[in-house]
Amino acid sequence: MTARIIDGKAVAERLRGQLAARIATLPFRPGLRVVRVGEDPASGVYVRNKDRAAAAAGFDSATIHLPADTRESDLLMLVEDLNIDPAVDGILVQLPLPPQIRPDMVIAAIDPAKDVDGFHPVNAGRLAAQQHGLVPCTPKGVMHLLREAGARLPGARAVVLGRSQIVGRPMAQLLLSADCTVTIAHSRTRDLAAECRRAEILVAAVGRAEMVRGDWIGAGAVVIDVGINRDVAGKLVGDVAFAEASERAAAITPVPGGVGPMTIACLLENTLEAALARRGAH
Ligand code: NAP
Repeated sequence: MTARIIDGKAVAERLRGQLAARIATLPFRPGLRVVRVGEDPASGVYVRNKDRAAAAAGFDSATIHLPADTRESDLLMLVEDLNIDPAVDGILVQLPLPPQIRPDMVIAAIDPAKDVDGFHPVNAGRLAAQQHGLVPCTPKGVMHLLREAGARLPGARAVVLGRSQIVGRPMAQLLLSADCTVTIAHSRTRDLAAECRRAEILVAAVGRAEMVRGDWIGAGAVVIDVGINRDVAGKLVGDVAFAEASERAAAITPVPGGVGPMTIACLLENTLEAALARRGAH
């Protein structure tokens, strides 16, 4: 079997187009503020891409770049200003933050109604309680891709590899809400390969270059690779050994061009949702 490639770039482009069309009908422009602290080079690329995609889709978007020695109290004050600014619908503080700033404190300071990353404990709790809230962008993007791939979710055995607060856990919640039978595997799981092999839907989010080998994939599985890693040669690779896995999977996301583009598109989707919810519309 040679797997069908799930083209995240194309799906993301379509979603961004739909958002732009919706925004063009609104009497206001949803406002997004991305806050970057310090000079982490990867963050620089992410933030620029977010800003560019937001502006292209018609959002009122701006990046606020603070120096690396910014005090936590000053960042918290900025977040408070953004919380009360009526022109701002979505606030995203780019991680990682410099060591003097506690990310949990900053995330908790964001108004949950403007928390477009979906990391605030209130939004995490709403997701766990199956209440309406803002959902973390990467797992939300994965759900879009599974739908695009035509994956049959109800009753399916889904394995999520990784249990982080930003990917693994919310991913498992979303799959559970979609009626999958969900297993969460992690670094203490006894036989990872066996757990993965049972999966009809496998979402890998561990951050280990090509850890998931071809013989970990059940025949006909849908494989979503969230990982973004560099291999020894410096090439961008996922958590899944793509060529090997493609021989067994029914469908698979590439890296790059799979989950990555969906994360930004879902950030924009969340910002539009936040803007509409703040104005009492959905
Ligand atoms: P993270 O916070 O480091 O979490 C990694 C998870 O994988 C942890 O739960 C860890 O288990 C587990 N793990 C690590 N090594 C393992 C091993 N050898 N065997 C089994 N489990 C292992 O990472 P993250 O933030 O969730 O990100 C995961 C990957 O996705 C990274 O490559 C990241 O760059 C990528 N990512 C991509 C996007 C995107 O837009 N495409 C967005 C976010 C993240 P323990 O909990 O037991 O330690």
